[in-house]
Amino acid sequence: MLVHIGIDDTDSKMGGCTTYTATEAVRQLLISKLAIFKDYPKIIRLNPNIPWKTRGNAAVALTLETDEPKAVFETVCRAVEENLTTHLDSAATLILDHNLEQLRDYAQRALYTVVKMSEARALCKKLCTYTKLWGRGSGLKGALAAIGNDLSRGDYTYELLAYRRREYWGKPRLIDPQSVYDLDKHLNGLLFNNYDPETRRILITPHGPDPVYFGIRGESTEALLKALSILKPQQPVDRWMIFRTNQGTAQHLQTKLNPNALKAYESGYIQGVVASRAVIGKGGHLYIHISTNSTKIKCAVYEPTGPFRKLFQQLVEGDFVEVAGGVRRATAKHPKVLNVEYLKIIKLKKILQPVKPLCGSCGIRMKSKGREGYFKCRRCGSKKKATEFAEATRNLKEGVYIPPPRAHRHLTKPITRWGLEKTKWDGKISSRWYWFSDLRDL
Ligand SMILES: [Zn+2]
Repeated sequence: MLVHIGIDDTDSKMGGCTTYTATEAVRQLLISKLAIFKDYPKIIRLNPNIPWKTRGNAAVALTLETDEPKAVFETVCRAVEENLTTHLDSAATLILDHNLEQLRDYAQRALYTVVKMSEARALCKKLCTYTKLWGRGSGLKGALAAIGNDLSRGDYTYELLAYRRREYWGKPRLIDPQSVYDLDKHLNGLLFNNYDPETRRILITPHGPDPVYFGIRGESTEALLKALSILKPQQPVDRWMIFRTNQGTAQHLQTKLNPNALKAYESGYIQGVVASRAVIGKGGHLYIHISTNSTKIKCAVYEPTGPFRKLFQQLVEGDFVEVAGGVRRATAKHPKVLNVEYLKIIKLKKILQPVKPLCGSCGIRMKSKGREGYFKCRRCGSKKKATEFAEATRNLKEGVYIPPPRAHRHLTKPITRWGLEKTKWDGKISSRWYWFSDLRDL
């Protein structure tokens, strides 16, 4: 029978552990020969705009065929247990395939809103065959969402995650930077966010003490395997695994927010016209008001997004735009603010500028602009207003804009992916999707 297993191990210090736990679960399932994998392991990123989330807010799901679901579940639980660093908030749960449909709506909401523990518990009681919770068990929310968001339809990407040997955990990660730059040369458009072009900062290696060595993100497993052959790691790789994921899909921003009832920590988009020009405030953060349904929404674009802010400074009143992001809760001093993650300029307002008139007596183009729209002839000093107007050139183009890669979150859709989204997974699994240093013959 087909079963789905959700794992959420929301450890706060050892980010990346959930995926490592998943590799360990897969490894033990491969050894035990209890199951046949029907999908790549999936990494599902949940609403990133919830402040109490762990670093990446990721959960993992496994989809497999087995005659022994209980034994499979016990194997997964053993892997979770062996990799727990704290006993808080972890969960593993298994459901039968025919129950998955009833999780879809919940899983969608887990992407852009705050789901309640009570709802997760009720769904679990109704749908899950086996469940094990550790600590407070709030990982159940993510474990269920990972199962329900099965990426069978709509957009998805792949990530090849490589892990270091245990003796390297907590040590700096060494990798030949030129080999990272080379990835883009050879696989341009098939990979994303390997490095930040502006700063040349390498983005495939995380910075925490976790087991992850590097992660290559891309559009196909072929591209990831090719990348692996180009990359020059300078420390031994212990294992690697290819995951299917909602990273890089902006899956959390697909809901239109109600401008009259913005909820704190919700993610989504609004469309409207620029109501007032951008101002740069304290710390270099930029603020702009967008008017939609006769409600003005304050939007923030933060300093680390660098040149992304410059675009907003060129917007004028009346420009029609779509902005998306997460709602920051209101404080005593400030209203709710939408933290912008992308800008889509839908229609730029035409700005008409007066054309310098000709002087009636001298026949020359009047130059210096006087007050109240008057032009003045340099030679005879006569004044008049312009009678002709021409469209001013805007330094902006209609289209989509996002912050530079160094400011991306896991779910940020890279600019190269816009318009090239996948619509459906074909259900095929590559013959090479994992490698373990100690299981060379599997
Ligand atoms: Zn004149």
